[in-house]
Amino acid sequence: MSGNKSHSSTPNNVLKIGTFTCTWCGLTVSTVAGDGVRRNHCPSCLHSQHVVDHVVGGASDCHGRMSPIAIAMHRTGEWMVIHRCVRCDELTSNHVCADDNQFILMRTAVRPLAQPPFPLESFGDL
Ligand SMILES: [Zn+2]
Ligand SMILES: [Zn+2]
Repeated sequence: MSGNKSHSSTPNNVLKIGTFTCTWCGLTVSTVAGDGVRRNHCPSCLHSQHVVDHVVGGASDCHGRMSPIAIAMHRTGEWMVIHRCVRCDELTSNHVCADDNQFILMRTAVRPLAQPPFPLESFGDL
């Protein structure tokens, strides 16, 4: 319509956006979140995949599914998701993204409080 025929060249400094398929719920996930943060877990169910060797560094050939098992707080106050690989039990921590499923985040955070290893009635004796 406008007659603008300029080709859109691809700059080299643009972050490569790839996708991966969630090993748990099958969602196709972009590897870069809306706010430009690199994501490695599914925003819907928070599951991840063991593709990075966090001990040695570099790629891991484990490719096991990584389940979100806990929430930790970084010293900056930022929430981190703790993942554990179902194949090799490696633990990783990853930043929470703005569009992560808040219900799953809260459920993961309060799970140990909902299932304490001792009777809550003992607090009444303190
Ligand atoms: Zn998922
Ligand atoms: Zn693993």
